[in-house]
This record gives sequence, C-alpha cells and structure tokens, in this order.
Amino acid sequence: MDDQHMTEGTDNLPLSPTSKQTCRAHNAAGKPCRAGVRPGAAYCFQHDPARVGAAQAARVAGGKARAKPAPAPPIDLSTPELQRRAIEETIDRVRRGDEPLNIGRFVIYAISVVRGVFEDDLLARLEALEARHAQKP
Ligand SMILES: [Zn+2]
Repeated sequence: MDDQHMTEGTDNLPLSPTSKQTCRAHNAAGKPCRAGVRPGAAYCFQHDPARVGAAQAARVAGGKARAKPAPAPPIDLSTPELQRRAIEETIDRVRRGDEPLNIGRFVIYAISVVRGVFEDDLLARLEALEARHAQKP
C-alpha cells in the first residue's frame, strides 16, 4: 500500500534534470541552447533544421511574392472606353495582389478626375451645339 503510493508520486514526472536531453544548437550569444528535446531528437523545436529550413523557405517565398508585382503598363485615358478598361484592370491588379490598395485607389481617383474633364468638355460642346441650333430661323 505504501509502495504503490510512492511509485505514483515519482514516476509520473516528465523528465528528471539528470536525464533531460538538451538541444545541440547554440543560441545567439554562442552558448549551448538549454531547451529540452523530444526523445531521439537532437534539436529543440526552435532549432530543428528541418523546421528552420521550412520557415526560411516560406519567408523567402512570401518576400518574393510581395517584392515582385508585375510592373503596370502605362495607362491611356484618352477615350471613355480606355478609361473604363483602366478601371477594370486596376481592380483586377489590386485583387490579384499586383498593386497595393493605396496605388489602386490613387489610379481610380485619377481616372475619375480625367472623366470629369471629359464631361466638362462634352457639356461645353453640347451647349455650343444648342446655342447654334437656337440661332437658326
Ligand atoms: Zn535549441
């Protein structure tokens, strides 16, 4: 009865300090990493070469994806149809991640300004046409 009580108390501890395996890697200060490792493993979770490689690869891939958006072609806004197409292309580029949202907003804003200029021009031409028509006998 007393025996059973003692085994239960000591054997359930995870790892005793003497038998604890530590990581083979060294930390940033050049001292041995003192983190524990899983049974049979040489490195702790943070220094596991397989994991570090995968994490670095992911970081590099992410960096590349962010760093190389395809350069946008020059925009021609000389006709309403080209303006409409430029808006479509800008929306697509932002949604694909080829263009940052702030650039997309700027482009859409710039197109809307250009469209305003077109409308002013159209209105002026319409007024001139109306004036000429009214002068006719
Ligand atoms: Zn380690």
